[in-house]
Amino acid sequence: MNFDDLKNNQKEVLRLLENTFLKNRLVHTYLFEGVKGTPKIEAAYYLAMLILCEGETDKKPCLECRQCLNTMAFNNINVYLVKPEKESIKKEQIKELEHEFAHSALEGGKRVFIIEDIDKATSEAANSLLKFLEESNDNNYGILITDNIQKVLLTIKSRSQVISFREVPKATLIHELQLNDVLKEDALIFASITNDFQEALLYNTDEKVKKIIELVKEIGRVLILRTRSATVVLYKNGLFLLKETSKKYHNIFIDLLITYLNDQLLCLSDQKDKMVFFEEISKIESYIVNDIAKTSSLIEKLFEFRNRLNYNVNIELMYCQMLEEIAR
Ligand SMILES: [Zn+2]
Repeated sequence: MNFDDLKNNQKEVLRLLENTFLKNRLVHTYLFEGVKGTPKIEAAYYLAMLILCEGETDKKPCLECRQCLNTMAFNNINVYLVKPEKESIKKEQIKELEHEFAHSALEGGKRVFIIEDIDKATSEAANSLLKFLEESNDNNYGILITDNIQKVLLTIKSRSQVISFREVPKATLIHELQLNDVLKEDALIFASITNDFQEALLYNTDEKVKKIIELVKEIGRVLILRTRSATVVLYKNGLFLLKETSKKYHNIFIDLLITYLNDQLLCLSDQKDKMVFFEEISKIESYIVNDIAKTSSLIEKLFEFRNRLNYNVNIELMYCQMLEEIAR
């Protein structure tokens, strides 16, 4: 587990947790909230180490004792993780947690549970959790995590101490990616589709993502130059994508097409310094049709197509229709 993002970009959160720990004022239930990509899960494991650390020195977490090492390796029996199963957290999962913790109460010692995406708890699960929090003993600590604080039930919010994670500025993300040997243009591209540093680093070593970027550049080029049909390019260089079953890659493809079109808007409105596909587009900028309203409506269309990915769609048909519409 890597705590760099937490230490570099969430100093207030870290200071708050460390100070409350030192003053012995930790509460028993925390709710960590912030947009997707902020290091909430890392913070949860960090807090778990603070609570469980058996290090002899004053510096906690020591990152060296058995508790710290096991926690970092996701292998500490005193840290229990609950995640959504098939898009929701169910009552049975909370019951399992309860059962597990009832058992450990006999042995004594502190324990931490972490619940990811608490906003996805069913109302039965939320009720069981509230009851469990009510009856839980002083050795237990809970950390609830959400990307969507608006969707967390009020009863759960009011039962926890809410800690907010601020969004990392894009410029910081881009800078840190470059420090990690990501090329500038790639860093700009990844930062346009995620706020998550670790996720962006994964993209950088993902061959499929690289191929998608090339495909988007090529389709973008023919859309501007009108030399060929975008659909023909898709069939020539994008067969891998038509066969792809993971929605993640289709989201990336459409997101990057949106970025590419948005770049054209930036180019037309003299904000070239904000462009992502800067090198690509500046070569052919004189061919961009100067019609901001039309480009904006094409972007909206792409958002609609991306939305369709949430349903069972025939990817091939959808892409053909999409490219035909945005080539008009
Ligand atoms: Zn330790």
